[in-house]
Amino acid sequence: MSATHDVISPVDETVLATVPRADPAAVDEVVGRARAAFPGWRAIAPGERAELLRAFARAVHDDRERLAGIEVRNSGHTIANARWEAGNVRDVLHYFSAGPERLLGAQIPVPGGVDITFREPIGVVGVIVPWNFPMPIAAWGFAPALAAGNCVVLKPAELTPLTALRLAEVAHLAGIPEGVFQVLTGSGAEAGEALVRHVDVGKIVFTGSTEVGRHVLGLAAHQIKPVTCELGGKNANIVFADADLAAAAASAPGAAFDNAGQDCCARSRLLVQRPVLDRFMELLEPAVAAFRCGDPADPSVSMGPLISAAHRAGVASYLDDTVAVAYRGEAPDGPGFWFPPTVLEPGGPTARHWREEIFGPVVSVVAFDDEADALRLANEGPYGLSGSLWTRDLGRAFRMVRGWDSGTLSVNSHSSVRYWTPFGGVKQSGLGRELGPDALEAFTEVKNVFIATGE
Ligand code: NAD
Repeated sequence: MSATHDVISPVDETVLATVPRADPAAVDEVVGRARAAFPGWRAIAPGERAELLRAFARAVHDDRERLAGIEVRNSGHTIANARWEAGNVRDVLHYFSAGPERLLGAQIPVPGGVDITFREPIGVVGVIVPWNFPMPIAAWGFAPALAAGNCVVLKPAELTPLTALRLAEVAHLAGIPEGVFQVLTGSGAEAGEALVRHVDVGKIVFTGSTEVGRHVLGLAAHQIKPVTCELGGKNANIVFADADLAAAAASAPGAAFDNAGQDCCARSRLLVQRPVLDRFMELLEPAVAAFRCGDPADPSVSMGPLISAAHRAGVASYLDDTVAVAYRGEAPDGPGFWFPPTVLEPGGPTARHWREEIFGPVVSVVAFDDEADALRLANEGPYGLSGSLWTRDLGRAFRMVRGWDSGTLSVNSHSSVRYWTPFGGVKQSGLGRELGPDALEAFTEVKNVFIATGE
């Protein structure tokens, strides 16, 4: 009998479920089923595959309250966020369900014949997901992979497997054939690594830390296996003196503390132009106080707990005696891995909390002088995932976004993700893009065929 592990709720520390812990033999079995299902799935007529994905989307829609409820308990997400996340899975499936009939090849003019290209599915795709957004991140991988005619093995994070397991049931109820979409629970070191190493897995979509992403890329390199990587971030929120300061201050807590700051796109580095620094800090304080941390099932709450005791200890380690807190929101005591929204006193750009991804509700603040200074600070460090910029000067906005080494930026807004626009990072934040019009192609191989017609 294979081993199991307990799934703990970060809200009250109760055991929610016990799930299998796949070993390499179990991974081999699951990949074998996917491999066996592949010829049938790729052969399904495009319109029928599209209809099956739409049926999957409808089934997710019908199940969204249940899925959201599971995520509130398993991940500590607020109920509003969890409902959005289940809806995002539906929307991503629906968006990519338009893919099968639109996987176009090219016809290239050549002498002596006809040259055409086909976009072939890769085969079995492994999708490895972190614990911070279990549902959407899974769907960003599995929806385009399935649409392009691949079979998927989804490996959720050890801490948060429950919505993935429910999604596999929902897919089955919607008529997705056996073996086409499977979920494999287990640890990263064992199940995740066995999936990456498996010779019958043709592509890996990895979302997680830069450290593990680097390791996964190294493993995949042995088989020249393509990998899409969405990794860490340490994103800047840059506020110029000419900005709508009230709007920038009102939105800054959400940008940094949503999902308790456990967001690769969290704007955890706040850069404020020096002449308005004091005013901005005054405006920010009430907005932080209003960002309530508490029971995520309560619809009036803005953020829930951190994911685990170990992660809370890691976040707390950034706030040693040398670090001054400007202000802090409130958080419950008692069971659950609570940590209050925290804004640090403005300081220099060398502190550990400024440089490293904390992945918790902690914002560092640094003053800057001009555009060049802001850009230099924003571009420092190994990451380049997302960022926001607040200004009323359109020319400045364009100069800044063009010079900023980042994959996903917003001006006078903090939006990062829309399922129909590309998402991903540069530098050590990632490799490749998810979502948007081009994502489908990343799940295909181009095949070129020349047919001689005679001169
Ligand atoms: P993690 O890297 O520890 O784990 C991510 C996944 O990889 C998990 O499923 C884990 O089981 C698996 N894994 C671990 N070791 C493995 C191995 N040796 N081989 C194969 N798989 C392995 O990350 P986490 O702690 O779950 O998530 C937090 C990190 O994810 C943060 O750094 C965050 O920035 C990043 N993240 C990035 C994005 C993005 O889109 N750029 C989105 C969300 C999270």
